[in-house]
Amino acid sequence: MHAIIPPYLLARLAASSEPHVARAAEAARQTLAAPRVYRPTRASIDLSVEGGALVLEASPAPDRVISDAQHREQLPGVRARGEDDPATGDAAVDEAFDGLGATFALFWEAFGRSSIDGAGGTLEATVHYGEDYDNAFWNGERMVFGDGDGEVFTGFTRSVSVIGHELTHGVVEHAGGLQYVGQSGALNESIADVFGALTEQHLRGQTAAEASWLIGAGIFTDAVQGDALRSLSAPGTAYDDDVLGRDPQPAHMRDYVHTSADNGGVHINSGIPNKAFHLVATALGGHAWERAGRIWYLTLTTGGLSDTADFAEFAAATHAAATREYGEGSEEAAAVHAAWVGVGVIEDAAQR
Ligand SMILES: [Zn+2]
Repeated sequence: MHAIIPPYLLARLAASSEPHVARAAEAARQTLAAPRVYRPTRASIDLSVEGGALVLEASPAPDRVISDAQHREQLPGVRARGEDDPATGDAAVDEAFDGLGATFALFWEAFGRSSIDGAGGTLEATVHYGEDYDNAFWNGERMVFGDGDGEVFTGFTRSVSVIGHELTHGVVEHAGGLQYVGQSGALNESIADVFGALTEQHLRGQTAAEASWLIGAGIFTDAVQGDALRSLSAPGTAYDDDVLGRDPQPAHMRDYVHTSADNGGVHINSGIPNKAFHLVATALGGHAWERAGRIWYLTLTTGGLSDTADFAEFAAATHAAATREYGEGSEEAAAVHAAWVGVGVIEDAAQR
C-alpha cells in the first residue's frame, strides 16, 4: 500500500532470468512477498481556547526522527537521528532526514501547512529496511525505505521526489482520503507525484521551465535504461529497459489503460492528471508551487472532493478552486480548464 515501486514493475523484475540482474530479480521476489503492515493514522490536532478564541497549536519547525531497521523487517528499528542531532555519516539516515525536512519546508512555506497532519506532528522514517528491499512506502504513520538490490535499484532515500511523494500520501489521508483503486486511486498517486515533484523543485529553487518533472531520478543504477520511475512532463517516457520494460503511463484519456492489475492502474493512469498539472504549471510559469501547486493544494484540502472522485470530478474541483482563489475568467482558471481539455478529461466547449 502506498509504495513507490508499483507491483507490475517488481513482478517484471522478479520474473527476469537475465543473469546480470539475478540479485535484483531475487530482491524483487522477496520484496513482493514481504508483508507491509498498514497502520491507519489517528489524527490529533491540539485545540485550545485562549481569551474566547480557538487556538490551533502548529509548529513551523519540523520534528524528525529517523530509525534504522538494521536490515530487519521490524518497525520502527533503532533510533538513529532526532531533530537536534548532527549528521550521522550514514547516507540513508541523513538523506531521509533531509528529505523529510524538504517536504516539511514545501508544505509549510508554500501552503502554511505544518507537517503531514497539519498540526506539527512528528515526521518519522525508518531506513535500511530488510535485505535488498526494493521499495519505499508510507505505512500510515512513517516512511520506510529499503536499500535496493544494487543491480537495478539503488537506495530509495536518494530521491527527494520519492520522499515527498510518500509523505504526500499522508497529507491525502488527512485531507479525507481518495480510495486507492481506479481513478480515485490514480488521483491519489498523481497528487503524491505532484507534491513529490514540487518538493524537489522547491528545494532547488527551480521554475516550472527548469524542473526535470521526474519522480525517482537517481534510484535506478546505471545498468537501467531510464531516467526515473515516472515523468510528469512526458508520461510514458521515464524508462525503456530490456528487464523493466517500458514506462506504461498514458498522457491522455484516449490512451487510458483499463486493467485490474495495480488496483486498476493507479500508478499507470496517474500519468493523465500528472500531465494536466504539468500543463497548468508550464502555462502559468514561474515557481510551480506558487499558483498551480496552490490550486491543487486547495482542491485537496478545501475542494470538497469525495473519496471516490474520478478525473472529471477532480478537474471540476481544480477549476472551482482556481476560480475561488484567482477569480472568474482569471489566467489561472483558464490554464486549469485548458489543461484538462489538453489531456482529454473535459471536452472543449468551443469545439462542440
Ligand atoms: Zn504512491
